Amino acid sequence: MRICVVSYHSSPLEPVGSGKSGGMSIVLRSLYQRLARFANVDIFVHGHELITKMGQRIRVIQMQKPQAHAFSEGILNYHTIRGYDLVHTHYWLSGIIGLQLKQLLKIPWLHTLHTVEVLKTIPKDKTRIGIEEEIIRSCDLVVSPTEQEARAIKALYPDAKAIAVPHGVDTWQFRPSQDGHKNILFVGRIDPIKGIHLLIDALRFVKQDINLTVVGGPSKGAGNFDEIKTYAAGLPVDFVGQVRHEELADYYKEAAMLVVPSFYESFGLVGLEAMASARPVIGFLHTGLRETVSDEAGVLVKIGVRNLARAIEGLARDNQLRHRLGNSGRRKALLYDWSNIAHKYKDIYEKIIQE
Ligand code: UDP
Repeated sequence: MRICVVSYHSSPLEPVGSGKSGGMSIVLRSLYQRLARFANVDIFVHGHELITKMGQRIRVIQMQKPQAHAFSEGILNYHTIRGYDLVHTHYWLSGIIGLQLKQLLKIPWLHTLHTVEVLKTIPKDKTRIGIEEEIIRSCDLVVSPTEQEARAIKALYPDAKAIAVPHGVDTWQFRPSQDGHKNILFVGRIDPIKGIHLLIDALRFVKQDINLTVVGGPSKGAGNFDEIKTYAAGLPVDFVGQVRHEELADYYKEAAMLVVPSFYESFGLVGLEAMASARPVIGFLHTGLRETVSDEAGVLVKIGVRNLARAIEGLARDNQLRHRLGNSGRRKALLYDWSNIAHKYKDIYEKIIQE
């Protein structure tokens, strides 16, 4: 099997946790490195002309072609030599390339949105909504990380084909250890959509002796990062900045729980990382955490500062509950190990090629 992956706006080789590089880079790295056991994978990204091997049968091909049309022509050149069996585009900017490749390559096209503009609960970009609709209607299959998102897409666009395949976690890297009982952890890009100011407000109501560690670098400009730091002045909050993904497991180890106060989260990889580390997760019910975390592995509440504060206090006070949720989270996370998820993709890819 020869797979053409398009990730126009972010490369799986970039460090994650700040700027525009987050969960999607982890998904691309983790999934395709495992799929490369069964397939040859070329991942096309925008950047200085460069080809980097990420493993035996997997390459990241950077092309310096800012226009969608030229970028698609570039992929066509590789296709004439490699003969790809399918193309999988990630994020709407790559979906634009997908619309062009559909005409050029005439092979099955899968698309993953990663975030769906029309489903966001913050001001939406109308142009992007229109483009995402065209992509959803034109591709052969939309792959969503949750059933909830796949259902929402089918409800909005009844002729769309959408299935759910969850993202995964490296259950070897993220492992259980003794609970660091005073420490609350936040992991993510410091972007307004991640709701970190809600968590800081919640801390003002928490009576227990706890402290918060914030892992992640600025995403929407340094201004926002500095504002958040100022906002948290006087509270027991430690901003450690961006941490290399390979070193992140230690932060989960030191934590009693992870809090994900995002307004919108299509999946929430960090929730799964906490589960694999046997740490309970606090977050909002309406987000993608609902399917992975659910009430088996954490406490999900209706959006609100007081609700967050109550959930944090409840877990901080109750060692037994933390351990029970942590252990059941670990058990559930094992089902989401990336090797299992890669097998699901292998089956889906093989099926769509045969159809
Ligand atoms: N991450 C990291 N270092 C950091 C901050 C985040 O490695 O300093 C990783 C984190 O472990 C997770 C990803 O970035 O795998 C964030 O994914 P998530 O789905 O939570 O959020 P997104 O960035 O996709 O909105």
